[in-house]
Formats: sequence, C-alpha cells, structure tokens
Amino acid sequence: MNYELTDKQKEIRSIMKKLAPEINAVAEDAGAETLKNNLSKLASINYQSLVLGEDIVGYCLAAEELAKACPSTFFSAMSSAAAFGLPVNKFGTTKQKKKYLDPIIKGEGFGALALTEAAAGSDLAGLTTMAGKTETGSFILNGSKSFVTNAPLAGAFLVLAWTDKEAGKEKGMTFFLIDGKAKGVKISAATETMGLRGAPIADLQLVDCEVAPEAVLGTPGDGYGQWTAITPLLWLSVSLLALGISGSCMEDSTLYAKERTAFGKPIGYFEGVGAKLAIMFTMVDLSRMITQRAAWSIEQRETDASILSACAKLFTSEAVNKIADLAMQIHAGHGYIKGSKVERLYRDARIAEIVYGTSEMQRAFIAADSLNKFKAE
Ligand SMILES: Cc1cc2nc3c(=O)[nH]c(=O)nc-3n(C[C@H](O)[C@H](O)[C@H](O)COP(=O)(O)OP(=O)(O)OC[C@H]3O[C@@H](n4cnc5c(N)ncnc54)[C@H](O)[C@@H]3O)c2cc1C
Repeated sequence: MNYELTDKQKEIRSIMKKLAPEINAVAEDAGAETLKNNLSKLASINYQSLVLGEDIVGYCLAAEELAKACPSTFFSAMSSAAAFGLPVNKFGTTKQKKKYLDPIIKGEGFGALALTEAAAGSDLAGLTTMAGKTETGSFILNGSKSFVTNAPLAGAFLVLAWTDKEAGKEKGMTFFLIDGKAKGVKISAATETMGLRGAPIADLQLVDCEVAPEAVLGTPGDGYGQWTAITPLLWLSVSLLALGISGSCMEDSTLYAKERTAFGKPIGYFEGVGAKLAIMFTMVDLSRMITQRAAWSIEQRETDASILSACAKLFTSEAVNKIADLAMQIHAGHGYIKGSKVERLYRDARIAEIVYGTSEMQRAFIAADSLNKFKAE
C-alpha cells in the first residue's frame, strides 16, 4: 500500500492551506457578506471544480482544510456544489450545466437542494410535494420544503417532487431545477440553528409554481435513483465537515494544553488531559483514513464505494462529537463561554450525525449490506 500523495494532490492541499487563514470563520447568521467573500476566494483557487470535476481525493484534501478554517463556509459551499451541483453535473443537459453550475464555480451564486419536508426527512417516501403535468407539458409544483441550506441566498433550487405517486419512490419522483425568482417560489425568514450559523437555512414554499419541461433533471421518474447515485459523495462531504471540525478541536486543545498552566505546569502534562489529547489525535487520524479510503473507492468506482462512504460518515460524525466534547473539557470554563471558538465547534459538530442520513440510517444501511454479503456457505 502506498499512502504517498501525488505532486498534484500535495499542491491542492498546499494551495488550500495558504488560503485558509484568509477564510473568515462565519460564526453567526449575520455573515452573508463574509460568506459571499469566502466563496469568491474559493473560486479563485477553483475549489468547487474539484468535487464537480470528480477529483475526489483532491476534494478531500482541500475540503478538510476548508472545514477546519470555517465549517459554515464549508457547509454552504458543499450545499451548492455537492448537494445541488453534483446531480446537475451528472444528469443535467449541457444547457442546465452551463446555466446552473457556472455561477457556483465562479463563486457568484448559491445552489440549494430541497428534499426534506416537515413530515419527511429520513423517509423520502413521505414527501408530499407534488408536480402535476399540464396539457402543454409543463409542470405545476405545490409543496413545502424545510431546512434548505443556502435558501436565503440561492439563485436556484433542485427540488424533489412526486410526478407519479402510484409508481412508488423508485419510479415516481422527479428532480426539478427551479429559479429562485420564479413565480410561486417563496422563501421563509432564515431558520435559527444550533450550529453552522453562518450557513443560512430556510423553508421553501412552492405555490402553483409552473415550470417548463426543460426544468426536469434527466427523465421524469428518475429522481430517487439520481439521489441515491450522489449520496456517497454527500456522505463523504459530511465526513469532511466532521474531519475538519475534529482537526480544529484537536489542534486548538493541544495548543491550549501547552499554554494553560495549573499547579505549576502546563495542563497537557497531567495524565487526565494528556490522555484526552492522545484520544483526539488518534480519532482524527482514523477519521482521515476512513474518509480518504472512501474517497479513493468512489474515485476508483469500487462496488463498495457507497458502503465505505456510509461507514466514513457514521464514524467521523460520531467521532467529531466525542472530540468536541473532549475539547470542551480541556478548555473547561473558558470553552463554555458563549463566543469561544470551542463553544462554536461543539455546536457545529452536532449536525454531522443528522444531515443527509442520520447515524441510525447509516447503521441500517451498513447492516443490511453486511447481512446480504456474509452468508453461510
Ligand atoms: C442545519 C441543517 C441543514 C440541512 N440542510 C438540508 C438541505 O440543504 N436540504 C435538505 O433536503 N435537507 C436538509 N436538512 C435536513 C436533514 O437532511 C434531515 O434533518 C435529516 O435527513 C433527518 O431527517 P429528520 O430531521 O426529518 O429526522 P427523522 O427522519 O424524523 O428522524 C427522527 C429520528 O428517528 C430516527 N429514525 C427514522 N427512521 C428510522 C429508521 N428506519 N431506523 C432507525 N431510526 C430511524 C432518526 O435516525 C432520528 O433519530 C438539513 C438539516 C439541518 C438541521
């Protein structure tokens, strides 16, 4: 086995590392301008083209650094390029790709993926958004989507709706590309969140929103299959968010443990603190290994790629919560204060076990595959 990065991969990581100090941590929800500036800085190094160009290992290296510098900027960028952009890139027409992906690559626009509804998150069959076909071939959409990341800033939405409920989710769901300014599109006030407050989220309401047949992504009825085709990259992206936050917690805690003294010596030299640093370091390294393993497997189109990505998301998202908890304990009272970096990272970490497949759903997916794979002779 060879863990050595190629020269190109080393360059990608070093370019992102150089840019990272210029990426401001968009901690609170007032950061729309900072977020926009961050995205245009990322465009200057072609960051969004990595995932869209399917340079998955390169994406991992850059994304880890970005998520470490600013989890909110990472999450917003990921919601534009990975959640919204990947399906468009994979299944869209040349015209759709040009119209919707160019602004994202140039750092001039935001995209948003709208799957979740108030009564349907893990179980997409519970969606109620409907797209009815008219005699002229256009579609009229009605429904309400929740927790849509980037919604307050998005120029376009990728919306999953039923086109034929009787056909079931495998054949009856369709993705539509809908402009943010289209008639019948309403965006709620931004929803307040526990963490990632710099990545704005809101509800999207569609009221008799009529779209031309060209708004369909691929073929009507293919939506659910398209969704499952991009989930490995989304799980990988959430793993990278977790890995970045984990690294940030580990590095900050290690520095703090060297600076902070008690009973006449740096706290890191007490076994109770040093042991925490050791666990954090080990878990960060394991998180990086499992994530890069999944990235490699996606890039190589291995048959196990989706399972390995699910494993990466499951492990890294649980690890980051453990690591953030240890970081809080090392910083103690100084971490618990509102506005401290550790307090923000602790809140930011929590989403990883929830978004785009909860830990419970990842376990169910991995277990089902194992039960199918390992059979008695
Ligand atoms: C900050 C944030 C940003 C988000 N961004 C987006 C976005 O941009 N676009 C988008 O479409 N969505 C987005 N989401 C939604 C997110 O993906 C969902 O919250 C997630 O899929 C879980 O759905 P739910 O919250 O409805 O939980 P539910 O599905 O209601 O689950 C509730 C609990 O039940 C458990 N559960 C459910 N079914 C099972 C089962 N079969 N076995 C075991 N346990 C089960 C779950 O694991 C969970 O613990 C975002 C959410 C947040 C909080």
